[in-house]
Amino acid sequence: MKIHEYQAKELLGAYGVPVPGGQIAETPEEAYEAAKAYGRCVVKAQIHSGGRGKGGGVKLAATPEEARAIAEAMLGMRLVTKQTGPEGKPVRKVLVTEAAEGEKEYYLAVAVDNETAGLVIIVSAEGGTEIEETAASHPERIVRVPVSVYEGFHAYEGLEVARALGLTGALRSALTGILQGMIRLFLEKDCSLVEINPLVLTAEGQLLALDAKINFDNNGLLRHSDVAALRDTGEEDPKEVRASEYDLNYIRLNGNIGCLVNGAGLAMATMDIIQKFGGEPANFLDVGGSATTERVTAAFEILLSDPQVKAIMVNIFGGIMKCDIIAEGIVAAARTIGMTVPLIVRLEGTNVERGREILKASGLAVISAEDMADAARKAVNAAGGAL
Ligand code: GDP
Ligand code: MN
Repeated sequence: MKIHEYQAKELLGAYGVPVPGGQIAETPEEAYEAAKAYGRCVVKAQIHSGGRGKGGGVKLAATPEEARAIAEAMLGMRLVTKQTGPEGKPVRKVLVTEAAEGEKEYYLAVAVDNETAGLVIIVSAEGGTEIEETAASHPERIVRVPVSVYEGFHAYEGLEVARALGLTGALRSALTGILQGMIRLFLEKDCSLVEINPLVLTAEGQLLALDAKINFDNNGLLRHSDVAALRDTGEEDPKEVRASEYDLNYIRLNGNIGCLVNGAGLAMATMDIIQKFGGEPANFLDVGGSATTERVTAAFEILLSDPQVKAIMVNIFGGIMKCDIIAEGIVAAARTIGMTVPLIVRLEGTNVERGREILKASGLAVISAEDMADAARKAVNAAGGAL
């Protein structure tokens, strides 16, 4: 789950990370009132996407009147950034924040480290809006320091990071404090990313987080109602919102073959085999082991509502999940919403015969497959051939 910059800064502030003062505004008038408290301020579009600065979503205002005018133009616009795609994202809120004068911009992040099965601190002395370019052209300027989740964060690791950033003296301990806060937040709230970009060094010699991004592991939300309350479904793909209502594990991807699978491992294998035959999956969708007809129907609705989907491949290995339940779901979905694209079905396992009979008796135009490879080959063909 993603949250907005203003929410991320509030959380970081609660964990001892210095952040500039700010107020959220949903109307130009509110922006004007907020700006009065700051004099010079920055008006920032709150959307779940980075690259706002370059896209025109971060603007400096010298007076409250100017802040109002900027907010007026920003609120309601669709902000296009490198990360939003050409359709952009609507701006519903702006953050009015104290303008800080940074002398230098740093990049700081705490992320999951697959290599060490722990955390990793990622830093660069060349933070700011060019960080992606730096990472691509000068990867050696991005420094990674692994952190054990068992032992936690040691002060000497802070020193190592400070050295990499060229920070000395009091700034070294300030940086260590910030990193400690980020790591504690990461672990306590089950984050998957805590990022500050930029962290600036002000003329007064203070380190300040000007922008923040925090992502959470959805599996941890159950035990953090405070975090779950930060969710803004208006920022999410409506298909993903609907999937979460039915407890379906759905992630939209860029291809044209919709997949409906039971079990995360089988879902991964299904995506792999589609690619092996030259196709691209349109989504990851795991209906899980306890799919009811209702949930299977919802899953089909989600797949069929995606104009990108040109064929659907159902790949079920019936275990706890029985093939006849899936077959009933397919038939029910076809009856209520109509199957508008070719449907390729591979069923195996518990009650497979009953499942096949249900499909046959329904009169639905189902392309049945012998095995996974056969299903993938047929799905790629039905979707218009290898890409
Ligand atoms: P992003 O482009 O979505 O990552 O949005 P940021 O919040 O990082 O803003 C983009 C850039 O605007 C930052 O990298 C800073 O260089 C600049 N910026 C943001 N806030 C301030 C501020 O308070 N003062 C100054 N001088 N620059 C700022
Ligand atoms: Mn940023």
